[in-house]
Amino acid sequence: MKFQKIVLATYLMCGSAMLSQLHAQGELNTSAKDFKFIDPKNMDLSVKPGDNFFEYANGAWLRTTEIPGDKTRWGSFDELRDRTNKAVQKLLVDVSSGSNAAKGTKEYNVASFYKSGMNTEAINKLGVNAIKPELDAIKGIKTPQQILDVVTMLTKKGIQTVMNGYIGPDDKDVTKIIVQFGQGGLGLPSKDYYTDKDENAVKNRAAYTKYITDILIASGQTAAEAAKNATAVFALESKLATASYFPTEMRDPQKMYNKFSLAAFSKQTPNINWSTLFGKLGIKGQSEMLISNPNYYKAVSKEITATPLASWKQYLLFHTLSHMSPYLSDNFENLSFEFYGKTLSGQKMQTPRWERVMGVINGSIGDQLGQLYVDKNFQPEAKEKMLELVNNLQVAFGDRIKQLDWMSAATKTKAMTKLNSFMKKIGYPDKWKDYSALTITENNYAQNVLKASAFEYDYYLSKLGKPVDRTEWGMTPNTVNAYYNPAFNEIVFPAAILQFPFFDFNADDAVNYGGIGAVIGHEMTHGFDDQGAQYAADGNLKNWWTPEDEKKFKGKTQVVVNQFNSYKVLDTVAVNGELTLGENIADLGGLAVAYEAFKKTKQGQSSEKIDGFSPDQRFFLSWAQIWRGKATDKRTLQLIKIDPHSPGVWRAIGPLSNFEPFYKAFNIQPGDKMYRPENERAKIW
Ligand SMILES: [Zn+2]
Repeated sequence: MKFQKIVLATYLMCGSAMLSQLHAQGELNTSAKDFKFIDPKNMDLSVKPGDNFFEYANGAWLRTTEIPGDKTRWGSFDELRDRTNKAVQKLLVDVSSGSNAAKGTKEYNVASFYKSGMNTEAINKLGVNAIKPELDAIKGIKTPQQILDVVTMLTKKGIQTVMNGYIGPDDKDVTKIIVQFGQGGLGLPSKDYYTDKDENAVKNRAAYTKYITDILIASGQTAAEAAKNATAVFALESKLATASYFPTEMRDPQKMYNKFSLAAFSKQTPNINWSTLFGKLGIKGQSEMLISNPNYYKAVSKEITATPLASWKQYLLFHTLSHMSPYLSDNFENLSFEFYGKTLSGQKMQTPRWERVMGVINGSIGDQLGQLYVDKNFQPEAKEKMLELVNNLQVAFGDRIKQLDWMSAATKTKAMTKLNSFMKKIGYPDKWKDYSALTITENNYAQNVLKASAFEYDYYLSKLGKPVDRTEWGMTPNTVNAYYNPAFNEIVFPAAILQFPFFDFNADDAVNYGGIGAVIGHEMTHGFDDQGAQYAADGNLKNWWTPEDEKKFKGKTQVVVNQFNSYKVLDTVAVNGELTLGENIADLGGLAVAYEAFKKTKQGQSSEKIDGFSPDQRFFLSWAQIWRGKATDKRTLQLIKIDPHSPGVWRAIGPLSNFEPFYKAFNIQPGDKMYRPENERAKIW
C-alpha cells in the first residue's frame, strides 16, 4: 500500500530498481572560470534554429554522446542523476565503514542495508531460501479461498500480485484517508503488451513466456514442467489484461473514481468478500473503498474459481520470484535483467551493483538515506533562492491568467484562487519519518526489502482515521525530479533537482529561468492541465469551470493532442497525443510562464549578449538543454506506450513551435520547418 496515485512529475517516475542512473564522469564545477552554462561546443550552429531547434542547441552533444552500456537513456536528467548518485555512493561507503552507529539510527539502517546488498556471497549462498517462508505459503495453498490468504500476506510485504492497494486522500473529500485499489497483476508493462498484434509485440510476449519458464526452472522445476506452467501463468495474466485499462484511459480521474461500500462491491465479486479481505489486510473501521477499475476486480474474482488452483499457485510463485529477483542470487538477478533490461529496454550491460543497491535503499528507507544526503549536500541558500523563483513564477502565472482572452471573469477568479493556494515544498521535508520500529540487518538482503515494505505498509495503514498529513513528500530529496500533487494542490522540488543544468547560483537568470523556471512553471501548469484542471483549489475532484469555458479549454487542448499525434519517433511510430496531453500542456504553460517571469528580471530587460547569445536566446537554449537526451530504440518504443511524457526532442520543439517570443528571438520565418501560422498555434495558459 503506497502513498499517492496521481503524482504529476516533470520526468519519468522510476521504480526503485530503475531509479539510480550512474555512469562514471568527472565532477562538474560550475564555478570554474571557463565554465559555460550555454556551451556552443554542445550545439550545431550549422542547423537553422527554425528548422530543428533541438539539433541547433544540442547537435554536437547528440553526435558525440553515447548512451552508457548500462543505461537505456542518457540526457540532462541522467547526467545530473549520475552526479547525485556519486555523492550518495560516497555517503554509503562512509557510513558503512563506520562501526559505532547505534541500532535503529539512520546510519545503522542505511549501512546495514548497503552491506546486506553488497554481500553477494551470502546472497548467492541463500538462493531462493532467502524467501522460503513466502514460497512455502504459496506451496501450502489447498483451496481457492486460500489464494487470497496468500495474496494478502504478500501484499503486506510489498509483493504486488493481483491486488494493487494504496492508502491516501479520497479524491472527492481530500480531508479523509481512504483505502483504494488499482488494477495490477501483470508482468508486462501495460495492457498494450498483451493486446498489440504487431511483430514486436508478438516477440515480446514470446520472450516474456520464456522468462516465466526460466524463472520457474531456476526455482527447481524441470524444463517441461516450467514450460507448461508458464503457459498457464500467461493465460491467467491475459484474462486480467483484458479487464484492465489502457494507460490513456487511466488519465481520466472521474472514470477512475468509483466508491463502493464493502458489502455492495462484495456482491459484484462473489469470490472476494471485501470485509473478510480487509480483516486479512489488518484494516479496521472502514466500510467504504475506492476501486479505480471495478471490472478488473470482477475478473480476479471470476478467475479465482475459473482458473485451476494449480495455475494460481504457479502464478503466485512466478510473481513472487520475479518481484524478488533483483534481491536474490545471481541466477535470478540475471534472468530479470535479461528480460526487463535487455529484451524490453535495450540495456546492454547490468547496472553496477552498488548503484542497484542504492536504488533499492532509496525506494525502501528513502527518508533515512535522504536525511544523510541533505546533511552533506544541500545548501540552505538554494531553498531561499528557489522560493524566490517560485514566487516570481506564481506572479507571472497570475498575470497570464488575468490576460487570457478566452476565459470568463468567473472562471478566472477560481483559477486565481487555485494558483494562490499552491503549497510549496522545496529541498526536503520539514519532518522526517520515524523509523524506530524498523531494524535492518546485515545478513539477508531480500528479507530487508520485505521488512522495509512491511514497515511502509503499517505506516500507511496507521493513517486511516487520522487527519491527512500534508507535510508528507512523495519523492526523496536525492531525486532529480519534481511533481505536482492535485489532492494537496502542491508543487514539490527535491533538493537534487536544484543543480545545473536546471539551477545554479553562478548562472545568469536566462539559464535558471529557462531551466528550473520552466520546471516550476511545468509543475504549476499541472494544476491546470486536462487532469489537474478537474481538481479545485482545496484539492477536491470538483468542477470549478463554467460550461462555456470548459468547452473552450477542451477545444484548445485538442489542438495540442493533434500536434503531438503528428510527431514521430524512429521515423515511424507516432507519439500518443492523448497519453501525453497533460505533460504537453504543462510544458507549453511552463515555458510561457517561465519566460514571462524572466522578462521581469534585469537580464530579461537587457539586450547584453553572453557568449554571443542574447538574454532571450539563452533562455530558449537553456530550455532545449534540459530536454537534451537520447534513448535506445527499445526503450523509446517502450516509453511511447507507457510514459505520459513525450520524448525529449518533442518536449523541446513542440512548445517552442507555438511560442511567439521564440520566433522573435531566432527570427523564425514561414518556410522554416518549425514554423506554424499564428492561427494554428496552441496557446492555453
Ligand atoms: Zn509533468
